[in-house]
Amino acid sequence: MRTGLFPEAIPNWVEGGEWPALSGELFEKLAPARGRLLCRAARSAEADVKGAVAVAKQRQPSWAELTPVRRGEILYAVAAALEERREQVARVVAQETGKSYKLALGETDGAIALGRFMAGEGQRLYGRTTTSGVAHRYAMTIRQPVGVAGLIVPANTPIANVAWKVFPALICGNTAVLKAAEDAPATAWIFGKIAHEAGLPGGALNIVQGYGEEAGAPLVKNPDVGVISFTGSTAVGRRIGAIAGERLARVSLELGGKNPLVVCDDADLENAAQWVLLSAFSNAGQRCASASRIIVFESVYRSFRDLLVERAKRLKVGPGDDDDFGPVINERQLKAMLGFVERAAQRGATLLTGGHRLTGPEHRDGFYMSPTLIEGIDPGDEISSTELFGPVACLYPARDFEAALALANRSPYGLTACIHTHSLHRALQFTRKIEAGVVVVNAGTYGSEPHMPFGGAKQSGNGWREPGTEALDLYSELKDVYISIDPEEL
Ligand code: NAD
Repeated sequence: MRTGLFPEAIPNWVEGGEWPALSGELFEKLAPARGRLLCRAARSAEADVKGAVAVAKQRQPSWAELTPVRRGEILYAVAAALEERREQVARVVAQETGKSYKLALGETDGAIALGRFMAGEGQRLYGRTTTSGVAHRYAMTIRQPVGVAGLIVPANTPIANVAWKVFPALICGNTAVLKAAEDAPATAWIFGKIAHEAGLPGGALNIVQGYGEEAGAPLVKNPDVGVISFTGSTAVGRRIGAIAGERLARVSLELGGKNPLVVCDDADLENAAQWVLLSAFSNAGQRCASASRIIVFESVYRSFRDLLVERAKRLKVGPGDDDDFGPVINERQLKAMLGFVERAAQRGATLLTGGHRLTGPEHRDGFYMSPTLIEGIDPGDEISSTELFGPVACLYPARDFEAALALANRSPYGLTACIHTHSLHRALQFTRKIEAGVVVVNAGTYGSEPHMPFGGAKQSGNGWREPGTEALDLYSELKDVYISIDPEEL
């Protein structure tokens, strides 16, 4: 199973070198495609995190002392090194997540694109020059680093998740401590190694492995961490927000979604069905942006449902490039999803397809769930309002546009949304009235491109947007500068 791409026991990566957990303890990481041990990783605790933060704090002034343009050159070299080794990185991602190599490669390229974009920001990092109300006074704003950034990521698109946070944090002159996802320790490891070999100074990026409560929580609590960027579930995000709030640390929360995709009676149903399948099932539905509520006009509901079910039954599940999607990340998540589906069925929901674990010879040992479509559920049911983070979507009929919009907005979340229609009126009204951070017309529910801001409304986040140039606002302290001149001295 192992390929020599990463060590058998993955240590923390601090000050440009290997730091095993002080306790010497390791935790096991299983390969989702086979259910077998892939590697072990340092089981870090508070003392390990304190050590990493102390290094980051000590190294921050010298990193910030480099001009932003120089920091950009270094980060550009990191992006170039990632590109040179993109196939290796993608192999690590594929092994850790069970997704296809092709998909992992696409994700790696996304991480590289983000790196390039953020490296270029070193030549901008704009402040603002403006007028002053006082004679002989000049007013402007400049950006300065916050200090140490604490970065916490999930495992679903691991290399992109790491890049999304590390590049913007560093270009702004912060040093960083990244708490890797416990389900993707090797991806964080290889990123740190490549960055170091490409010339990133030791201590600029420090990576701590471990579980959330044990290694993530101490990072959030640490008074030397000035800005926290968390991507993960709403439940954990709420706790992190409360702890960070206690000490008035800046915190960006990029959280879950229960994203609607609306199919109107004037939509191209074939095209809409293709996009629903991609939106609901790609990456085994483990995307914060995935569509899990499919809202269909009553007049086309039956024909669209039948088309969709027929297509979903043809999807191939497995870890290969020819498969449509792979396993979910771990057994716990698989069991939780199966529980939700079973309870919905007990309450009278109809399983149109799927709803079970795949147990055939090629799936037996891995964490595979069949593509699942459900109907006949109340919009207030727990499965309608809880993010499952897997290949499960529910179908709801809606009388007309207003009913579909109301149903789409009937959610505690507000991350992404999509509408399929040929009507400009419906499309524009939907983009204005939907409560979401990202809205798409006639395609799928996506994350954002690297130069665009991503984030959600309601319980999908706390208002920050990453990446895009908007991420620079999170990772920099804005300072007003006033300069007065003395006219007598002219
Ligand atoms: P999770 O919240 O369980 O874990 C995410 C990260 O937080 C992990 O690294 C984990 O170790 C850490 N963590 C857990 N408890 C912690 C604590 N008490 N203190 C500090 N850190 C802690 O989420 P998950 O199941 O790994 O990931 C799936 C979730 O992530 C979904 O809800 C998904 O929607 C969300 N997500 C959001 C976005 C976005 O940009 N909005 C992108 C990807 C995933």
